Amino acid sequence: MNIKQCEKTCEVSGLKASPGIVIGRVVVVDNCATWQRIRLLREEIPPEILRFKVAIARTEHQLMNIRDQFTEHLPDYSSIINSHILILKDGMISNQTVKIMEKELINAEWALDKALQAVEVRFARLTDPYIKERFNDIRHVVERIYRLLGGEEKVEEFAEKVILVARDFSPEDTLRMNQDRILGFMTDIGGITSHTAIVARTLGIPAVVGLGNITGQVTTGDLVILDGNSGRVFLHPTADKLNFYRENQIRQKRFSEQINFYAHLPSETIDGLQIQVKANIEIIDEVALAVKHGAFGIGLFRSEFYYLGSTEPPSEDLLFELYHQLLTRLAPFPVTIRTFDLGGDKIAGNVSSPDEKNPALGLRAIRFSLQEGNLFKTQLRALLRAGFHGHLRILFPMISSLEELLQAKEVMEEVKEGLRRDGLPFGEDIEVGIMIEVPSAVAVADELAREVDFFSIGTNDLIQYALAIDRGNENVAHMYEPLHPAVLRMISQVVESGHKMGIDVGLCGEMAGDVTYLPLLLGLGIDELSMHPLAIPYIKKMIRSSKAGDMDQLARETLTFSTAAEIRNHLSNYLSDKYPDEFGSPL
Ligand code: PEP
Ligand code: MG
Repeated sequence: MNIKQCEKTCEVSGLKASPGIVIGRVVVVDNCATWQRIRLLREEIPPEILRFKVAIARTEHQLMNIRDQFTEHLPDYSSIINSHILILKDGMISNQTVKIMEKELINAEWALDKALQAVEVRFARLTDPYIKERFNDIRHVVERIYRLLGGEEKVEEFAEKVILVARDFSPEDTLRMNQDRILGFMTDIGGITSHTAIVARTLGIPAVVGLGNITGQVTTGDLVILDGNSGRVFLHPTADKLNFYRENQIRQKRFSEQINFYAHLPSETIDGLQIQVKANIEIIDEVALAVKHGAFGIGLFRSEFYYLGSTEPPSEDLLFELYHQLLTRLAPFPVTIRTFDLGGDKIAGNVSSPDEKNPALGLRAIRFSLQEGNLFKTQLRALLRAGFHGHLRILFPMISSLEELLQAKEVMEEVKEGLRRDGLPFGEDIEVGIMIEVPSAVAVADELAREVDFFSIGTNDLIQYALAIDRGNENVAHMYEPLHPAVLRMISQVVESGHKMGIDVGLCGEMAGDVTYLPLLLGLGIDELSMHPLAIPYIKKMIRSSKAGDMDQLARETLTFSTAAEIRNHLSNYLSDKYPDEFGSPL
C-alpha cells in the first residue's frame, strides 16, 4: 500500500478489484464486532457453550435465509453462501472453540478468536494469494458469529448512492445492502480474488481493495474519487482532479458501452479466421459474468478452489453436482475443467503435504494428483460422470514429461473401468488436453501431441519456469517478460507441434486477455484464447479489426529478433500502424 500525502488531496493505492471510475460520498460501514475477554468459572462453561451453540445455529439460519432470499434473483451467490454454511458446519472452528473454552475457562468470543488465530497461522504459511484469500471466507463467518453472540445485526440502508468503505465485506453483507445505492467499494484488506472483488466485478460495481487503513483515513460524508482501473483512490480531491476524473468517467462510460457491443459478436478476423474466445473462471458464481461478456465457453476452470477452506476434500457427489451444474449452465458451449492444481503452497483440506523449500518446483499439480491417487480418482469419477451430461474437456496441469501424461491417462482408464463396473453412465469421448507450462513439455510437445486432443499454454507459469522468475516475487517482477524471445519461440514451437498432429492449441495465461499481445499470438497460430471474462469484449473488437495475413507476417518478423526490446518496439509500430485509434502512442 502506498500513500502520497498532498496539501489538498491525498492519494491511496490499493489493488484494482473491479474496473470503472466513480465519484461520490463515502459511508464507512462498521462491520467489525467488538467483544470482551472474560475468564469464567468451571460451572459457567456449560451455559457459555450453549450460548455459543445458539449463536452458531442462528448464524446458520441467517445464512440460509440470505441464500434463499437471493437464490432466485442472484443465483450465482448461493454457492458462495453455501461455502460459508459449509465452513460453519465443518466444525473446524466451532469444535476448536468449544475445546478452548473447556480447557482455558474463557468466554465464547475469546475462545473463538483463539480458534480463528490458529487457522490464520496455518494459512499464513501459504504463499499463493488466491488460496490465502480463502481465509477471509472463514473470517467472514466468524465475524457473523461474533455479531450474533452480541445480539441482532442491523442491515445497512442508504438514502442516496454512496461509496462503501469497510475493513472488508462478506458476500452476505453485500447482498443485504441495496445494490442500486452502491457506487463503489473500498476495503482495507482483501485481494483481487477476494469475494468482495468477485461480487463487485459480477455486479459491475467499481472497487479498490487492500487499501491498508482506508477506514481510518475517511469519515462518512467525505468526497472521494475511486479509480478501479488503476487501483487508486483520491481523498478530498481538488476541483482540477474532479474535473479531470469527471471527463475520464464520461470517456470510460462511452468506451465500455462501445466495447460491450462486441461481447456477443463472432470472434472472426476481417479475412475470416475464427478464434475461440473463452473465459477463465475459478468458481461457478463467475459463469454469469462469462456469459454476459460473450464467452464461447470456459477455457479454464481452476477446480482447486473447491478443495480449500474446509477440513474434508469434497465428495464425488458434491463435485459431480458442481460440474454438472457448470456444464448445464454453459450448454451448448464447451467447458474445460482443469484437474486440481494443488500441492506446493496450495494445500487441500486434511491432505498432508510436505513442507517444501521451493514449492513452485515441488509436489504440485499433476505430480501431487498422481501421488494422492484417491483424491485424483474421486475428481476424475465426478468429471467423467458429469461429462455424460454436457460438453466437457479435461485438462491436466503442469505436465512435464510423456511418462507423466501416460500415467495420468492410465489413472483415467482405471476410473472409467470402475464406472463401468458400477454401471454408472459417463462421457466416453471426453477430450483430454494438457497445460503446457514447463519448458520440458515444450521440448517434447511433438511427443505429447500424439497423446492428447488439445494443448493449452499456461503462460503465467511458462514464463516463470522459462525465465526463472518467481511470478509472485516483486524483486524480479520487472524481469517477468512475456515478449522475451525465448517465450515467443516456445509458443511457436508448441503451436507447430500441436498443429502437425492436428490438435488445437489454446493459451490461457494472463497474456491471452491483453490486447497488445493479440496480433502476435494469433500470428503465431494460437486457435483459442481464454481470459478473464471482462477482457473478452475488447479482445473480440481487436480480432474483428485484424487480418490473419498481417498477423502471420508480424509473427514471422518477430521471431527473428534477439531481444525483448526489439520485439516490443516492432510490435508497438505494428499496433500504431494497424490500429491507430487504439494505439496512437508507444507501448
Ligand atoms: C498459467 O500458468 O498460465 C495458468 C493459466 O495457470 P495458473 O495461473 O492457474 O497457474
Ligand atoms: Mg499455471
